[in-house]
Amino acid sequence: MSIWTCLGRRGLPLVLAAALAGGGCATNSVYNPVTGRTEISTVSEAELLQQAAEAREALIDEHGLYMHPEVQAYVTEIGLKVARLSHKPDLNWSFTILDTEIINAFALPGAQVFLTRGMLALLQNEAELAAVLGHEIAHVTARHGAYRANEAAFASVGVTAAISVGQFLERTGLRGAAQRMKRLGLSLAAGMIATYNREQELEADRIGADYLARAGYDAREMVGVLQMLQMAERFHADRAGEQKREAPGSDWLSSHPGTDQRLREAERFTAMVRHTASDGRQRYLRRIEGVVWGDSPEKGLVRDRLFVHPRSGYAITPPADWEVDVEGSAVAMHTPQGDATLTVRLLPKLAGKTHVEVIQNLLAPTEGRSSTRRVGAFTATHFIGSRMRGDVRQPLRSTIVTGPGQRFYLIDYTARDDAALQRALAAMQEAEQTFRAITAADRRAARVWRVGSVPMPPGGFAALAKASPLQEDAEITLRLINGVYGLSSPEAEPAVGAVVKTVR
Ligand SMILES: [Zn+2]
Repeated sequence: MSIWTCLGRRGLPLVLAAALAGGGCATNSVYNPVTGRTEISTVSEAELLQQAAEAREALIDEHGLYMHPEVQAYVTEIGLKVARLSHKPDLNWSFTILDTEIINAFALPGAQVFLTRGMLALLQNEAELAAVLGHEIAHVTARHGAYRANEAAFASVGVTAAISVGQFLERTGLRGAAQRMKRLGLSLAAGMIATYNREQELEADRIGADYLARAGYDAREMVGVLQMLQMAERFHADRAGEQKREAPGSDWLSSHPGTDQRLREAERFTAMVRHTASDGRQRYLRRIEGVVWGDSPEKGLVRDRLFVHPRSGYAITPPADWEVDVEGSAVAMHTPQGDATLTVRLLPKLAGKTHVEVIQNLLAPTEGRSSTRRVGAFTATHFIGSRMRGDVRQPLRSTIVTGPGQRFYLIDYTARDDAALQRALAAMQEAEQTFRAITAADRRAARVWRVGSVPMPPGGFAALAKASPLQEDAEITLRLINGVYGLSSPEAEPAVGAVVKTVR
């Protein structure tokens, strides 16, 4: 999981709206009063804003908007409070919550700041929220993206297409489709989105802390946020280590300025600024009450041996002991060995009007054959074939189902090699046959989990974990969202009766 990557799609050229009058010229030289530097940009404001609009669409396509009007209003309120006190109060600031548990925040051109509901669940108080937003606002006002305008122009190659089609059709032979999708997300990030350099991150921490103080929060909360992020990094690294997997996002983290160093720097410069008392913790906990935790009903929920996608109207029973991942609008079921994957996805209408059209449009086979079959109560077409990509022959095996709502669903079979496919095939076909319209029982089993707050029970985190629906790693997860993961001293533990976050 990439933590606070500060990625913006398309190389983050951030905002030029205020500084660049006009547009359309090839080179702009602009003095930036926030940093005292003169910057050169080779992309016009109009181009930049156009890219930003496309990038926004791609992001929302990939993650979805988090539809929670009260929480959204709160984030906007705090964001505007900080932005109005920044060096560029008059930009057309927007603050958007993405529907993903990934912990992240970033800015896009046009003064668009994004953060995830995963980030909201992690933060401890309003001041930390203001710190995260302040950091992103600082990237905008300091125009850190301006240096990357060239790369941004270079990168504007069909991101949306890559996201909506490539995700489930690229057969790179890596572990599982969802893993692949996550990787694709990251590699898209690497290709399309330039990360900031170390100096820019440190500068955003510093300017952000200044904004924080201007808005009446303790500037040291910037340190608190960095500590939280460091804790989350450790949490994910530890868990990845246990599962003998590569830490998600570790390739990104390795090329990113260390949180350690940012922390030391932040401690140094916030020691010199004004401190105030209230961190707005109570208000924060009240406002984020009910934020979705983990899987969302929009993208589908994994519960025991069940996957339910309320929005797409279907449920499926994954094979026993297979790993189930939700990413984007697809669900991917992997063998325990991770060598074969069954993916299900509702297709957009533009995928085709008939099963044959869908096969041509999406699979683009070089050769193969189709046969009709029944999938549960639905009619379907099964396709087995291959396509050439350069010199490489890629096997194809998919079922297109006319499912709930008369819409088309793609059930895609992927495997590392033919032997792996043969080993997994029976289980995949059996799972395919459980594809169904959501039943009342599915609906009951797929209750949504939410962040809440309660007084710490006498049994501490163990008791809290027992009362929560979390299944895996419940106790350490609750420690993480309460900011005490990996802390050994007993003083760090919240006292019995203290208000703590939980998942319910
Ligand atoms: Zn940053």
